[in-house]
Amino acid sequence: MSLIDIFDPKAAPKPIGIDLGTTNSIVAYVVDGQPRCVADCDGDPRLPSVVHYGEHGQIIVGKEAIMLAPTHPRDTIASVKRFVGRGADDAETKLLGTYRFVASEDETDAKVIKMRVRDRIVNPVEVSAEILKQLKKNAEGVLRNVGGAVITVPAYFDDAQRQATKDAGRLAGLEVLRLLNEPTAAALAYGLDGNKNGTFAVYDLGGGTFDITILRLDDGVFQVRSTGGNSALGGDDMDRAMASVLLSEMGFDDPSERTPEIVRLAMDAARQTKHALTDQDVVDVELPAKGGATVCKRFTREAFDALIMPIVEQTGPACRRALRDAELTPEALDGVILVGGSTRIPAVRSFVQQMFGKEPLGNIDPDQVVALGAAVQADLLAGEGNADDVLLLDVLPLSLGIETMGGVAEKILPRNTTIPAGAKQTFTTYADNQTGFEIHVVQGERELASDCRSLARFTLRGIPPMPAGLARLEVTFHVDADGLLHVSAREIKTGIEQQVEVKPSYGLDEDQIEDMLLDALDHGEEDLAARRLAEQRVEAQRILMATRQGLDADGDLLNVVEHAHVLTAIDALEASLKADKVAPIESAVAHLDMLTKAWAGRRMDRAIAKAIGGKGVEDVARSVENAGGIEAHLGQQTEKG
Ligand code: ADP
Ligand code: MG
Repeated sequence: MSLIDIFDPKAAPKPIGIDLGTTNSIVAYVVDGQPRCVADCDGDPRLPSVVHYGEHGQIIVGKEAIMLAPTHPRDTIASVKRFVGRGADDAETKLLGTYRFVASEDETDAKVIKMRVRDRIVNPVEVSAEILKQLKKNAEGVLRNVGGAVITVPAYFDDAQRQATKDAGRLAGLEVLRLLNEPTAAALAYGLDGNKNGTFAVYDLGGGTFDITILRLDDGVFQVRSTGGNSALGGDDMDRAMASVLLSEMGFDDPSERTPEIVRLAMDAARQTKHALTDQDVVDVELPAKGGATVCKRFTREAFDALIMPIVEQTGPACRRALRDAELTPEALDGVILVGGSTRIPAVRSFVQQMFGKEPLGNIDPDQVVALGAAVQADLLAGEGNADDVLLLDVLPLSLGIETMGGVAEKILPRNTTIPAGAKQTFTTYADNQTGFEIHVVQGERELASDCRSLARFTLRGIPPMPAGLARLEVTFHVDADGLLHVSAREIKTGIEQQVEVKPSYGLDEDQIEDMLLDALDHGEEDLAARRLAEQRVEAQRILMATRQGLDADGDLLNVVEHAHVLTAIDALEASLKADKVAPIESAVAHLDMLTKAWAGRRMDRAIAKAIGGKGVEDVARSVENAGGIEAHLGQQTEKG
């Protein structure tokens, strides 16, 4: 006998919100209009973001994986978020020395990080997907039928990191409705979108990272005004500071005497004590001392505060910088939101209060606030709420463009454009009978493509041969709400089209973005000169080509002396291209122009005469266009000269 499934309206697919954190991850959903986290059997919603790869192919995620880490440090991956969407040579990767990174044999993805665990090789997207699978499974325990998911990412995540996060979601079998910035999610959890307008600071101190974001809400539209932080600062530093105190109490002042076992014991005790001190004023810790005795250490809140203050104070400069970047004073803020487990600590709260001059919002559990906001957004997107209520916007961190002739980077979407956004630009062919266009998508502020970051290359093929300048290539850029770039190119005459989803092989970190921005400022003038030179070279090449073609077709319209002069001018122009200067090229172009002016007129006359003589209309149009092309072009040069 088979069972029949009775339709239960409560079991309709339920959208979920996921905070995919560096230390902990949480999944939440909305029930009766209220967001709620999915808890484990101990009632704890936090799933440690740790993945253990077992001997027999089994994969264990969460608290159990943490317990296996000491005995299997290389087969247990923690903090995978730090290298999602990053390259093997990125600075961040080097911080994580314990894993067995593998060099890729495949040329195309040589930059993607890969790690050996047991007898397999995994990448950060796959490891993240294991965490997401576990969250999905936990959610299914409560909801039975899980629908689409909103996954949160730090506001500073770039295209590669966002793409990698989305891929991880897909790999985990989730329909990713949207990627959402963590600070925006926190603001949604507090219902700040109900205010319509305002400016908020989101202070997020987690296990290993500190993020500060200034958010602006305008008519229900959220915008990230500035972000900053420190990717190597968090609760883990407090654990280490406390553990070192405990280790000395235990008699292990000399680091060389400490075994990994002893260090772990001290770290565990430190973390437990830290957590207990959030609610208690005094905590007694008992630990084994060197030589077998037991030591008892009394930790007071005061002593703890003094110990961690240097760590907490390190968040100050980033906060001030973020305010400065957003051109705000603390008084201009309408609210400050606390996010991250470490903001539960009373000393952290009072530091934030002093820093911003107002009491921070902290009544929603700072561990859960991001996941709760993501659930609210998922619920809206899945149509259970009113999706028009919240429009979430963001800005592009770096300009996006394509490489044009001469290696110049033509910006199609400038930095700070509000996304989602789209832009279109038309280009033409440089050489006759070009049947393919190579399109090189670049990111950055510099004028030359070689100084920008290469995001993708693709080729539009199958274009019928046409004279130079006749093909019309329309390139469209679209950055979606998740911050991901899609590029399409279409040849207008033939309608031949190609689309690519830009998938950079690795990401940039904040510092790199900053460096690139600073670089562009430093090299501003130099860059402009390089651009002018590159453009001038392209123009010169085109003139040379057109003149040579003209000589082949209509050379008989020049007398012997004129002919010789034109050839000399061609040689001179060619020679001028060898120097890295604009002026000699400009004057050589002007000289050639002067010498060919009369001839261009004769060529035009011939073309017209041919047309009247009953040639095919197409031919006429083409020859007129060719002859006219030179004329128009040279005319332009003359004006410049
Ligand atoms: P992440 O965003 O990096 O995943 P979380 O927001 O989950 O991190 O924060 C984890 C950090 O919060 C850890 O360092 C943990 O020790 C700390 N933490 C959690 N609960 C408390 C508490 N009650 N008191 C102090 N610190 C806490
Ligand atoms: Mg977090």
